[in-house]
Amino acid sequence: MSKDRPAPDAPAPLFPLVDSHTHLDACGASDAASVTAIVDRAAAVGVERVVTVADDLAAAQFAVDAAHWDSRVYAAVAIHPTRANVLDDATRAEVDRLARDPRVVAVGETGLDFYWPGKLDGCATVPEQTEGFRWHIDLAKRLGKTLMIHNREADQALLQVLREEGAPETVIFHCFSSDAEMARECVGAGYVLSFSGTVSFKNAKALREAAPLVPSDQLIVETDAPFLTPHPFRGAPNEPYCLPYTVRALAEIRGEDPDELAKASTATAERVYGLRPVSG
Ligand SMILES: [Zn+2]
Ligand SMILES: [Zn+2]
Repeated sequence: MSKDRPAPDAPAPLFPLVDSHTHLDACGASDAASVTAIVDRAAAVGVERVVTVADDLAAAQFAVDAAHWDSRVYAAVAIHPTRANVLDDATRAEVDRLARDPRVVAVGETGLDFYWPGKLDGCATVPEQTEGFRWHIDLAKRLGKTLMIHNREADQALLQVLREEGAPETVIFHCFSSDAEMARECVGAGYVLSFSGTVSFKNAKALREAAPLVPSDQLIVETDAPFLTPHPFRGAPNEPYCLPYTVRALAEIRGEDPDELAKASTATAERVYGLRPVSG
């Protein structure tokens, strides 16, 4: 995210959409009024509900609060793989407590990030990340909640840990950015793939081959805002209201009508997150 570029223009509306993965705190929200302002901007273009995702304990408490402040917001809580080295007994107990909240629809984002270790000061090592991932898988299964996975350059390692532990009933790969072979493996295993602005990037050739392979009942969409702003606004701050840009880019790659893709992805999001369908 950069403050140098102005915020993207509002896209033409596309109803109904669910932003399946965003970070409202990192988008600048800090209280009920600022959460509602972001969701109002999103709802104006059809993004009527959002799942705000935590990557540390403070963000987890914020996500749960936000989901109670505004009925259009749901929460996902976990400790991000790059921070898995903070998962002592007290932290685990807190994540466990927060994840039980009825407004929490997923345990996430957890998983493996092979990009940052060695580059980022204090980043959890791969063994620490793996242990943390195993713990979050167990938590999701104990609570009967969906597992939301963060994957950076860790395709096969993630699949292996899921096989070893036994996957929860519902598994989402957020910001799916892998190739066609990984898409086939995930679809075959029954996992749900969430597509972000990266599908609109011109250099994402492998991902563009993967996206058409995913059946719509295993496909959801997300902004991961404030990160990964879709083309042609790369480098500008992302927000949930930008989701229609990504859905139109994805529909073009898949040769689908954007309105149909919006409806289908929303039905899938409602199923995997246990959301009640919006009337009308
Ligand atoms: Zn992530
Ligand atoms: Zn994220």
